Amino acid sequence: MIGKLIIFSAPSGSGKTTIVHRLLKEDKYNLCFSVSATSRQPRHTETHGKDYYFITPDEFRSKVSKGEFLEWEEVYEDKYYGTLKSEVERLLNEGKNVIFDVDVVGGLNIKKYYGDKALALFVQPPSVEELEKRLIGRATDDAATIQKRVDKATYELSFAGKFDRVVINDVLEDAMTETRKILDEYLAY
Ligand code: ADP
Ligand code: 5GP
Repeated sequence: MIGKLIIFSAPSGSGKTTIVHRLLKEDKYNLCFSVSATSRQPRHTETHGKDYYFITPDEFRSKVSKGEFLEWEEVYEDKYYGTLKSEVERLLNEGKNVIFDVDVVGGLNIKKYYGDKALALFVQPPSVEELEKRLIGRATDDAATIQKRVDKATYELSFAGKFDRVVINDVLEDAMTETRKILDEYLAY
């Protein structure tokens, strides 16, 4: 059996990782997370190989030159993120549905590559102000990092219309209900 791809993209702080983690925990859709590689430092809550493969900028560039990425982006200045071809192929061959947490450009690139085999979801925060509050509340990034993320959010929000579906993450439970409904439909056939 060959699986499908479900892509979650959004500006940082929208809540997509929260939604993805909940779905993975529910264990309902035969989902497996595509672990990306990144050159940013791990947060205290993160584990190598589970949340990301944390690698150095040199290691990242070497993988780029060897063509190991399905897509990669310099999402923030000097902070590289990429989806490994090996990761996606392995999970698809195991018959899993693969779930991605990637930036808006990366999400649209994966969608373009896989077409109807992929569903691209955009997680929209109620406002940029609320997104900033969530980033501050998450308490994983310093003030300068949060500011860079907020500065990029308005630009990223302009991509929403290019996605297959938009989920508004205002009240988390409502966003979860909507997401489950979308996945029920998409994975039904
Ligand atoms: P992203 O992965 O899009 O950067 P996160 O999932 O890390 O965002 O969420 C950012 C912060 O907002 C986290 O602290 C998370 O607990 C919180 N959060 C997520 N969804 C909601 C929501 N609907 N209402 C309030 N806080 C939320
Ligand atoms: P964070 O540093 O908050 O984990 O992630 C920052 C941004 O990079 C988020 O929008 C996240 O979804 C995105 N990201 C994570 N992995 C990848 C990836 O493999 N490719 C791309 N293009 N973006 C990614």
